[in-house]
Amino acid sequence: MSDGDGRKKERADASAALPRGTDREADLLHRTTELALDFLRSLPDRPVFPTATLTELREGLARPLSEDGVEPVQVIEELAREADKGTVGIAGPRFFGFVIGGSLPVALAADWLTSTWDQNAGLYVAGPSHAVVEETAASWLLELFGLPETASVGLTTGAQMANFAGLAAGRRAVLLREGWDVERDGLQGAPEVTVVAGAEAHVTIEIAAQMLGLGAQRIRRVAADDQGRMRPEALREVLATIGGPTIVCAQAGNVNTGAFDPLDQITDIVMERDGRWLHVDGAFGLWAAASPRLRHLLAGVERADSWSCDSHKWLNVPYDSGIVIVRDPSIHRAAMMLQASYLMQTKGDERDAAEYVPEFSRRARGFTVYAALRSLGRQGVRELIERCCMIARRMAERLAEEPGVSILNEVVLNQVLVRFGDDDDVTRKTVAAVQADGTLWLSGTTWHGMAAMRISVSNWSTTEWDADRSVDAILSCYRRVPAADGA
Ligand SMILES: *Cc1c(COP(=O)(O)O)cnc(C)c1O
Repeated sequence: MSDGDGRKKERADASAALPRGTDREADLLHRTTELALDFLRSLPDRPVFPTATLTELREGLARPLSEDGVEPVQVIEELAREADKGTVGIAGPRFFGFVIGGSLPVALAADWLTSTWDQNAGLYVAGPSHAVVEETAASWLLELFGLPETASVGLTTGAQMANFAGLAAGRRAVLLREGWDVERDGLQGAPEVTVVAGAEAHVTIEIAAQMLGLGAQRIRRVAADDQGRMRPEALREVLATIGGPTIVCAQAGNVNTGAFDPLDQITDIVMERDGRWLHVDGAFGLWAAASPRLRHLLAGVERADSWSCDSHKWLNVPYDSGIVIVRDPSIHRAAMMLQASYLMQTKGDERDAAEYVPEFSRRARGFTVYAALRSLGRQGVRELIERCCMIARRMAERLAEEPGVSILNEVVLNQVLVRFGDDDDVTRKTVAAVQADGTLWLSGTTWHGMAAMRISVSNWSTTEWDADRSVDAILSCYRRVPAADGA
């Protein structure tokens, strides 16, 4: 297309990036804002799940890497156009899949600044403002959750790594009581550590045990009741068969039913033993603490040793954003960080965030959490949580009015499990029809051996109107499933 000289010039324009502070840089960022706003405006009306096939997405996106680079504006325009075709409307009001929130506008705005500032939040010296913002957000979180104000907080990528960090702290503490320093000497030759978890614990507890050398398959399981809550008497029986260092994992908010383990009773039982650690996985359930109406579900939670939670779920900040909290900060730090590292340059009470998370270099996640909490205030968080729960109840009540439809769980929080007809087939077909319809998106799950539809209400922008429209769409899909009309 162009001669040699032209090519060289084009290349300099394209890949020498954009000179800082020029109109071209500003144009690129303004154009990107417009594209982002176009997407956000499309959310209430676009099909919640995209229709593009894998082949179509590859046709648009899987280009050969060019030799000379591509003009930045063109890269962004094409990325926005092609990626849009395969983007799920998670940020929109009718995404009810898994337990996934959408971003609050203020958190999205703070996220843009986070990328702009490009701080390395691991160390105080690589982002002093962020260090202060994060310690402030950490104290607000402890206050909202009603956890000890002296506990330490790390902002992880998600609850998976928060569970990892909490269990790592537990591993350190229980082995230290046996005179074993696991960070220094490793697990080989150490006294055996037993992890105990409920039958309905989240899979990330297993993965944490796997990564910590404690063995996913070695977890001792405790029977759960029909809502997925750990049975205290079964815990007592399991613990009676275990000697030595033990880490017990309880759960606040079951990913299917939203149910809470009876934390007060569990804590009483665990605390009777020496050499134990109690971790609570509260990925979304811990947010119930922000509501006086729901807080009773968490009674006793403050007596545990470590806790995990997510901000990218119910606080509605962008991915990724999790929280680990540990009662004893010195155990927390020792489990996460090689002490006296050459890089630790903090003075006085400056805070190096890397001491509290598995990552070293890391994104400045505190900005979005701070912005969301500051904008909502205590009342706003409470309303966000209560509104989602109210909408979940409304959807459950309306669905239950339909003949042949049953709700499988007690709707104590934001999760609803629905069964259609009395066989798995009708339920699965209804889920598939809803997914194809595009009005909303949710997924199927298996609950006590039965197929079920799972509804999770976790987005600030979901209204009663969205809930009603979604229930109408679900019921019209159900009525069209062949086996449902008695044929
Ligand atoms: C979602 C969830 C997790 C995992 O959280 P991620 O943020 O996806 O890592 C862990 N436990 C429970 C109970 C969850 O709901």
